[in-house]
Amino acid sequence: MPSLVSAVSSSTTKTEMQTRLLAIRQQIADAANRAGRQPGDVRLIAVSKTRSLAEVQQACACGHTVFAENQLQDAMTKIPACSWPQAEWHFIGHLQSNKVKAIVGNFQWLHSLDSFKLANRLDTVMQNANIVMPLNCLLQVNISGEQRKSGLRIHEVDEVLATLVKANYSALCMRGFMAIGVQNDVRGSRAVFAQLRELRDRCREQFDLPEFDQLSMGMSDDFEIAIEEGATMVRIGTRLFGERSSHK
Ligand SMILES: *Cc1c(COP(=O)(O)O)cnc(C)c1O
Repeated sequence: MPSLVSAVSSSTTKTEMQTRLLAIRQQIADAANRAGRQPGDVRLIAVSKTRSLAEVQQACACGHTVFAENQLQDAMTKIPACSWPQAEWHFIGHLQSNKVKAIVGNFQWLHSLDSFKLANRLDTVMQNANIVMPLNCLLQVNISGEQRKSGLRIHEVDEVLATLVKANYSALCMRGFMAIGVQNDVRGSRAVFAQLRELRDRCREQFDLPEFDQLSMGMSDDFEIAIEEGATMVRIGTRLFGERSSHK
């Protein structure tokens, strides 16, 4: 018999998708309750990178309309096609300053802000496009310090955030931090997530930023501990859509 495993993600039925969504939402609620938090304070972001438009549309048909992408080109095959119901899009990949135009008007959230230069460019492009809603920005922190990861190192955060606050952008709103846990290390991830929450709390107060209230942390393998440690957004791909065929 041929293996069916590789076909799973493309043949996911609506019922399967609904079942997965319900299971994830229940796990989110349970983790929030364990931490004495409200389940409604944690947003599920479906990471649709490498997935087809049909898979995204199926999630929409199941009532889930919040997605994240990490490649602009791939994202643009889906975003214009998902205008009804209106989906919300989060960019979670590395963004080069010369590519920011594609963000404008397509994405409502950027999880990977990591430099003053990028913020300047984004603000200018947003203003020129007369976009009314500011872009919600999260500073990506490479909190585990692993070489291969992008984002600010923890000792750089204060200086960069101070510069961003001082710039007083009209088209960008600083909303919090994003981080990736430590691969295959639950205890390490928990420590890193707790550290990020403390950093968020301190920065929010120190820089007097009431809207700096978000923590994007937790993926398929560690979202429950991220929620226990304060995540307000979890980015889940594999658990919802199945295994990815490519490693993007
Ligand atoms: C791919 C990706 C995810 C989702 O990973 P899964 O393990 O499939 O849930 C989350 N965050 C970022 C930044 C990613 O690149």
